[in-house]
Amino acid sequence: NVIIKASDLAKSYETGAVTTHALRGVSLEIEKGSFTAIVGPSGHGKSTLMHLLGGLDRPSAGSVFIEGTDLRGLDNSGLARLRGEKIGFVFQFFNLLQGLSAKENIEVAAMLAGVPEKDQGARALALLAQVGLADKAGSKPSQLSGGQQQRVAIARALVNDPALLLMDEPTGNLDSASEAEVLEILRKLHVQGKTVVVVTHNNEIAQKAEQVICVRDGRIAA
Ligand code: ADP
Ligand code: ADP
Repeated sequence: NVIIKASDLAKSYETGAVTTHALRGVSLEIEKGSFTAIVGPSGHGKSTLMHLLGGLDRPSAGSVFIEGTDLRGLDNSGLARLRGEKIGFVFQFFNLLQGLSAKENIEVAAMLAGVPEKDQGARALALLAQVGLADKAGSKPSQLSGGQQQRVAIARALVNDPALLLMDEPTGNLDSASEAEVLEILRKLHVQGKTVVVVTHNNEIAQKAEQVICVRDGRIAA
C-alpha cells in the first residue's frame, strides 16, 4: 500500500546564468504507515526532494503521486488543498508565531484548517497533551526550550490529523536531550499509524527508520 510514488524526478534551479541540478533521476516509493529517513551530505538535494514529495514545489521533470493523485494534474490551489488534507510539515526552525502562546499557535493552525471556532481550543489542548506539553499551553515560544518549541510545531502539524508527516531536520537545531524527546514523539506517531518521512543527519533517527534513502549529488545512492 504505497502512499507516495515518485518517478524519475528532476529539479533544476536557475539563479541568474547559473543552473543547479539539485535532483536528477530520482524514483522511490513510500509505504503507508512506514518510517523513512532521507540522509546524505548537506547541499545534495534532500530538502529539494522533501519539498517535491510534499507538493511544496514542482519538479522540472518526473512525477509524484500521493495516494494515487498525480500532482501534475493539480493547479496551485489544488496542491494547497491536498497538502492541507493529507500532509503535516515540520521544519528545522519551528516557525512558531513568537507573540502567541503554544495553545494560540495551534489554534491559528486549526482556524486555517477549517476547524469550527468552538472546537479550536479543545483541539489545541488535546494536541499539546499528545506531545507532553499540556502544562505549557500558556507559554510563549521564548519561554520554551528548543525541544519544547519543536514539540509545539509537531502538535501544530497534526492539527488536520494528516496521514503523512514530512519533516526537514526536525532535530537539526536541538541539544541531545531535546533530540531524544522529539525522536520519542516520532516513534509514537509511527506506532499510531502515521507515515513519517524525516530528512535528518541524526544517526539514531536513521537507525530507527524502516527505509533509509541516501541522497548524494542529487541521486539516490545505492
Ligand atoms: P540539502 O537539503 O541536501 O542540504 P538542498 O535540496 O537544500 O540540499 O539543495 C540542493 C542544491 O540545490 C544545493 O546546491 C542548493 O544550493 C540548491 N538549491 C536549493 N534550493 C534552491 C533554490 N531555491 N534556488 C537555488 N538553488 C537552490
Ligand atoms: P538544508 O538545511 O536542508 O541544507 P538549506 O539551508 O540548503 O537546507 O536550504 C533551505 C531552503 O533555502 C531550501 O528549501 C531552499 O528553498 C533555499 N535555498 C537553499 N539553497 C539556496 C540557494 N543556493 N539559493 C536560493 N535558495 C536556496
